[in-house]
Amino acid sequence: MIEYKRNIGLYVLLALLLAFFAFLGSGCSADPPATTAATMPATEASEAFLPTTSLIPSGESASAADSSAAPTETEAQSTETEVQTTESETQTTETTTLPPKTTTSAPPETTEAPRPPEILLLGDSDMELRDDELFLEPGFSAWDAQGNSLTQQVELEIDALPGAPHCYQYRYTVSDAAGLTAEAYRVIRWQDTHPPELILLGDAHMTLEYHQDFRDPGARATDVFDGDLSDKIQVEGSVDPHQTGRYTLTYSVTDARGNTASLSRTVVVKEAPPPTTAAPPETTAAQPATPPAPVGNRVVYLTFDDGPFIYTERLLNILARYNVKATFFITAFSPEHAYLIGRAASEGHTIGLHTASHRYNEIYQSEEAYFRDLSIIADLYRRHTGQEPWLIRFPGGSSNTVSREYNAGIMTRLTRAVQERGYRYMDWNVSSSDSATWMSPDTVFQNVIRGISGRDMSMVLMHDIKEHTVNAIESIIQWCQSNAYTLLPITYSTPDVHHNVQN
Ligand code: ZN
Repeated sequence: MIEYKRNIGLYVLLALLLAFFAFLGSGCSADPPATTAATMPATEASEAFLPTTSLIPSGESASAADSSAAPTETEAQSTETEVQTTESETQTTETTTLPPKTTTSAPPETTEAPRPPEILLLGDSDMELRDDELFLEPGFSAWDAQGNSLTQQVELEIDALPGAPHCYQYRYTVSDAAGLTAEAYRVIRWQDTHPPELILLGDAHMTLEYHQDFRDPGARATDVFDGDLSDKIQVEGSVDPHQTGRYTLTYSVTDARGNTASLSRTVVVKEAPPPTTAAPPETTAAQPATPPAPVGNRVVYLTFDDGPFIYTERLLNILARYNVKATFFITAFSPEHAYLIGRAASEGHTIGLHTASHRYNEIYQSEEAYFRDLSIIADLYRRHTGQEPWLIRFPGGSSNTVSREYNAGIMTRLTRAVQERGYRYMDWNVSSSDSATWMSPDTVFQNVIRGISGRDMSMVLMHDIKEHTVNAIESIIQWCQSNAYTLLPITYSTPDVHHNVQN
C-alpha cells in the first residue's frame, strides 16, 4: 500500500517535470505554444509539403509537394496498417478509420461537434541556425475533419519576436471549407557568429609633420544583424603631434552577441626639423687601421642584412653574451630560420624589412612590384613579432644604380613612396665589404674598424648570411667596447642615414 502511494507520488512528480521541460522547450518563448510539431499521421505522409530547397511560400508549393510525394509513399502505406490495428484495439467510437488522429489522450470526441482542421509540422518546432545557414522548411501537412488534404492551403506568416534578437516565429495557418481554422508555430533562431565589418576611414598608415594637428578620420562598422555600429566603435591609443614617434590607434567594435572586430592605424609623427646629420654616402677612404683613442659619446649601429640564415642563431648567441643589441634587415630566403625573427625581436634587436625576394630584376621592375614584395616580408615580420613594421632598407641601398636597368627613376619614386606610407629607410655609412663568397674574418674586422674610427655615428653594413662576418663579430664588439663606442640598435630616434639617390 505504501509502495503504491510512493509510486503515485513518483508519477505525479514525473508528470510535473515533463510539463516543466515542455515549457522550457519553447526556446525563444514564443507566446503561442509551438506544440503541434509531431509525427505525422500515416495517411498524410504522402501529401506532406516536403520541400528540398529553402522555404517556398504556400501557394507556390504544389509542384514541390508532388515531386516529393512519390518516394515516401511506400513507407506511408506500411505504417498505415499499424495505425489501423492500434485503432481497432482501442475500440474507438468512430465509424471510419480514415481520419488521422492526434496522439493526445484527450477525452473521446463527441460525435456532433464540428472538428477543426489540423496542421502538423515536420522537424523541430524550435530550430537554431548559424547565421550563414539558410532555413530549409522541414515540411508540414494539413487536412480537414474528413481527412481531405489542406496542405496546399496552408499560409505562412513570419514575425520577428520582440526582445529576442535574430529570432523569428513562423506561423502556419489553414482553414477548411466550413471556415474553421488551425494554426501551428515554429521558432527559428539565427546565431550571430560573425563579427561586424570594420572599415578604417582614411589611411591605415598616416604621417604627420611635427606639430601638425591630428584629426582621427575614424572608422565605420556595420553588422549583418545589428546594422550600423559606427557609434559603438572604441578607440584605444592617442597621438601626440608634439612628440616625435610612432603611434598606434586600435579601433574595436562588438556586436550584440559579443562578436568583436578590431583594426589598427599607425600614425608617424616626423622628426622635428629634418635632421641634417644624415651622413654622406659610404666613403671607403683608406684610414689607418690603428684605432684612435676613445672620444666619449660615439655610437655604432651594427646592422645585418639578408638573413635570417644558418649563421644567425650563432650571431644572436654572441650578441646575447655581450649584451649588445643590433639591427636585422630581413628577407624570406630561408623559411626554416624565420623563427629567429621572433627570437631577435624578443631579445631587443630591431628588425627592419629588406624585401622578401631581394631579386633586383623583380623588385625594381615597378613600384607595384616593390610593394607587393614588401607586403610579403611585412607579413612575415608581423607573424613573428606581432608588431607593425616601420623600418626598411633597400636592397643595394637607396643609391643603387642597378635598378636603372629595370626602371628609370624608380629609386627617386620609391624613397618618397615608402616615407609617405610611414616607413623610414636606412642606408649605411660604413661597409664591412663582406659580400665576397670567402674572405678571412680578420679582413671583415679591419674593414669595419677602419670605417668606424673617427666617426661619431657609424651605421655599419654587414650580412648575417656570411660565415666570415659572424666569425668576425666578437672581435668587432670587443674593439668597440674597449674604445668607448656605444653599440645600439636602430630606434625611432636614430637619425636617418641616407645615400644620394642616383636613379
Ligand atoms: Zn641585401
